[in-house]
Amino acid sequence: MLVVMKHGASASQIEEVVATIKEMGYGARPIPGEQRTAVGLIGNDGAVDSGRLLGLDGVLEVIPVTHPYKQVSREWREADTVVTLANGTRIGGSEIVVMAGPCAVEGEAQILDIAHRLRAMGATVLRGGAFKPRTSPYAFQGLGRAGLEQLAKAREETGLAIVTEALDPEGADLVAEYADIIQIGARNMQNYPLLRRAGKTGKPVLLKRGLAATIDELLLAAEYILAEGNDHVILCERGIRSFDTHTRNLLDLTAIPVVKALSHLPIIADPSHGTGLRAKVIPMGRAAVAAGADGLIVEVHQNPPKAMSDGAQSLLPDQFAELMTQITVIARAIGRGVTPSLVRGRTG
Ligand code: PEP
Ligand code: MN
Repeated sequence: MLVVMKHGASASQIEEVVATIKEMGYGARPIPGEQRTAVGLIGNDGAVDSGRLLGLDGVLEVIPVTHPYKQVSREWREADTVVTLANGTRIGGSEIVVMAGPCAVEGEAQILDIAHRLRAMGATVLRGGAFKPRTSPYAFQGLGRAGLEQLAKAREETGLAIVTEALDPEGADLVAEYADIIQIGARNMQNYPLLRRAGKTGKPVLLKRGLAATIDELLLAAEYILAEGNDHVILCERGIRSFDTHTRNLLDLTAIPVVKALSHLPIIADPSHGTGLRAKVIPMGRAAVAAGADGLIVEVHQNPPKAMSDGAQSLLPDQFAELMTQITVIARAIGRGVTPSLVRGRTG
């Protein structure tokens, strides 16, 4: 439920609403807006008697939030959320942000080399898993803390922000020490202790859609992070399971405009895991930008056949350059831009 204050309501009237909600046994979260301030009521599981709140001075109206998720909804916050990273990159604004890098950090020389190349081509965020959730327990599981240290070194040298995955709650704390964005992978989208812990770190979180998750389930998973007081959440459409065997997953591009209508949170697309095939990454990356994605996360490797994971879907550096050129044109056609490379000196 949302208590909307009258235009020009005083601070003490807002405080009175907060105090009353707390007295009623719920949590209260003031949401200042350009036109109006609202106070969100949280912690209820069912209907709340709004009579007492409607009678308070300065209250314009009380709006029930009709979705099972609250804080992620557009009803709760009308304006788009923009997540700002330490290097100045803004995700969810008018410019499209490109995150790129190998599936996994494989060693210092590899990650430093690709980081420099990606920065020169216009990426602003470096991806790379240090903890890898692999389908087989015998497959490469990542370099762990050493991988995080190598990512941090790459950030130091290039100014790129870092996004990397955490697999469990303890891992979220560790990843938060190094990364600019904590990635929660598709397999962990409904790992609620992990979602809560990532929320508690206060760091930006990249939440990937589960392999068989509905859009409502994705938004409810995000709600767990916001419920911890952390609204720096970026959603990611990364493909869902389908019956077709021609691609690894079905990249659900419709989810982008659907999420945009339901939620104020930014949403990016992952055409690498979404297709599983190098030759399909550029077309689907273009399509995701055209569909309104706030950014892309793309796997790029200097030598894909030798990659320790996901080589078949990793772009070659030259292909990444081609993707950047093409999405810049598409972004312009829909009134957006692509976050300029740090090398061109616009961010940092
Ligand atoms: C990844 O980004 O490398 C990854 C494992 O992604 P997902 O969780 O979407 O499978
Ligand atoms: Mn991967």
